[in-house]
Amino acid sequence: MTDTKVLISGASVAGPALAHLLHRDGYDVTVVERAPTFRDSGYAVDFRGAAFDVLDEMGILDEVRGHDTKMRGTALLDAAGAEAGQLPAETFAGELEVSKRDLTRILHRITADYTEYVFDDSITTLTQHESGVAVEFERGAPRRFDLVLGADGLYSKVRQLTFGPHSGVLRHLGLSGAGFTAANFLGLDHSGVLQQGKGTAIYMFSAGDADRMAVSLSFATDSPALDRLERSEQEQAVRAAFAGHGWEAPRLLEAMSAADDFYFSSSCQVHLDRWSHGRAALVGDAGYCAAPTSGMGTSQALIGARVLARKLAKAGGDHATAFAAYEAELRPYVTENQAKGRDGAVAFGGRVQ
Ligand SMILES: Cc1cc2nc3c(=O)[nH]c(=O)nc-3n(C[C@H](O)[C@H](O)[C@H](O)COP(=O)(O)OP(=O)(O)OC[C@H]3O[C@@H](n4cnc5c(N)ncnc54)[C@H](O)[C@@H]3O)c2cc1C
Repeated sequence: MTDTKVLISGASVAGPALAHLLHRDGYDVTVVERAPTFRDSGYAVDFRGAAFDVLDEMGILDEVRGHDTKMRGTALLDAAGAEAGQLPAETFAGELEVSKRDLTRILHRITADYTEYVFDDSITTLTQHESGVAVEFERGAPRRFDLVLGADGLYSKVRQLTFGPHSGVLRHLGLSGAGFTAANFLGLDHSGVLQQGKGTAIYMFSAGDADRMAVSLSFATDSPALDRLERSEQEQAVRAAFAGHGWEAPRLLEAMSAADDFYFSSSCQVHLDRWSHGRAALVGDAGYCAAPTSGMGTSQALIGARVLARKLAKAGGDHATAFAAYEAELRPYVTENQAKGRDGAVAFGGRVQ
């Protein structure tokens, strides 16, 4: 057993997975999450390749399989909405797809008993010393940890405090989009439709709740900062992009404005020369986001957490050795996934530089 105190920032996928694996190896884990509670993200995530081994190692593979959305495939539509082709289920749903909400609930449940979760707070300063890291928070009292691990996503605070501003490490893939749910007026049944215009794409699918469908309206843009704007400005950008799209776009734009589960995201990647500095390291999207268009983000977060936990266990407390080994093993996989992310963005009309 070790009495190493670890602070993880971010309680989505990478954070709780890492909390579970580190606790197993005897670490004392605290997770700080900016949101007031576990996030109820509306979209689905999928698993590919070695991610299944990680779910199995965490003892949750069967439970996660129980939430399979059972997507059957996606119809490609022409400009008039007539079917022009079919994409197999794996294109968007991987080897297994579940709602992100189901995955994060399971991860929270299995870790809650032995992990100190601090919601509604965020790190504000990190000061590294030879023997530990002094951490200050927006709300909580200052504390000291042996290691600080950033699992806090695309706009990671740990990364910002350790490596500098977001602008230096984020690479926008020229694609942004709004997501929300709407009445399932197409009658989709465990299936999706994809219609692409000039620099725009409508993707809709329904699985689970037959009355509702998930809608994604994505568009090519050179503005990387759209996902940091107010909702009204984001809606305006979507409206402008879809003004000439036709088919059901006007109806979907109306549904977008009425939606209470609206979210907006830009396809971005994180490119860093190193994923650690001293006693701080990054995992998942925070360190090496491959973009939603890669379809690999969730698998990568889980596999990243496992590789990092294994290297820490193997190095027996020598975090510098562990962080170097973590990066050496994972980087080729990340490089491959980031190439997929760029190809996916181009396929959706993104202007990848
Ligand atoms: C629209 C969309 C669709 C996607 N579709 C897919 C898909 O089909 N398949 C797939 O595999 N992946 C998909 N992804 C990507 C996937 O969601 C991520 O790659 C994956 O969730 C990465 O997990 P993570 O834990 O590293 O980061 P995230 O899931 O981004 O979690 C980061 C966490 O950190 C928290 N946080 C942020 N800042 C702070 C702070 N200052 N302090 C404390 N906490 C903080 C956040 O609230 C969040 O809970 C999609 C992403 C988006 C945006």
